Amino acid sequence: MSEHDMKLVVVGAAGRMGQTIIRVIQQMPGVRLHAAVEREGSPFIGKDAGELSGAGFVGVPITSDPLEAFLHAEGVIDFTSPAGSVEFAALAAQARIVHVIGTTGCSTADNEKIAAAARHARVVKSGNMSLGVNLLGVLVEQAAKALPASGWDIEVLEMHHKHKVDAPSGTALLLGEAAAAGRKIDLAAQSVRVRDGHTGARSEGTIGFATLRGGSVIGEHSVILAGEGELVTLSHSALDRSIFARGAIAAALWARPEKPGLYSMLDVLGLTR
Ligand code: NAD
Repeated sequence: MSEHDMKLVVVGAAGRMGQTIIRVIQQMPGVRLHAAVEREGSPFIGKDAGELSGAGFVGVPITSDPLEAFLHAEGVIDFTSPAGSVEFAALAAQARIVHVIGTTGCSTADNEKIAAAARHARVVKSGNMSLGVNLLGVLVEQAAKALPASGWDIEVLEMHHKHKVDAPSGTALLLGEAAAAGRKIDLAAQSVRVRDGHTGARSEGTIGFATLRGGSVIGEHSVILAGEGELVTLSHSALDRSIFARGAIAAALWARPEKPGLYSMLDVLGLTR
């Protein structure tokens, strides 16, 4: 450990991603666990964050007081819930510390509140923090641009574990946005999120989504470009949650010297579409 290590708070410390991030912080140079936060009433308050995550004792008891936790910290890593991330965005902006948000399922109103906080704070938000998915987004945009909407239909297929609460996944929406950017269309106006019953034929130019849930799948995504007589499939498989944790920690380190603003993983990774 060095005195220059970035002091990070993990909120949602008992969650699937929270525990993974705590383990990865112990392995990555340049960062240290400053505090760990869980929701009020969680059975894990007071437990050692390292022991809970399987990383071994780290001397950081889980607290339900984010204000205290953010004091003297330099960054917050947040994979919690939309309501939690909106609350933490205001607190991180007050504390003038970096806020990395991996939470998905945020509404337009939630995103507006997070963007308002980013006027005073360095916020990095992305529906997927992995290098592979962000590269896939760049490739999807190129493919959508190259293949004409008149002959090529775009469908986004995803599968996740049975505990996931939002659909389509943040990653599926990120890939849909990339395809829409390639086609220069507005995703919200052109997406088909559900099909059921007598739907009629597919409308040209739309982007369709299909969601599968089951078992312990960490994240499978495919973007299918379907033409007459041929299919192009661009896909990504997440085999381990540490890909998101490493990306989130890299985002915190990247944002440390930046000016206040709302950034994405494309900025962090230097990927331009
Ligand atoms: P999870 O349910 O296992 O963990 C969430 C944790 O956050 C829980 O322990 C919960 O108690 C805690 N929490 C929720 N609201 C809180 C609050 N207000 N204050 C303190 N703690 C709070 O879920 P998970 O699988 O770890 O996923 C969490 C989020 O991250 C989801 O939105 C998921 O879609 C997203 N996710 C994003 C990426 C990415 O790369 N961006 C990758 C994986 C998961």
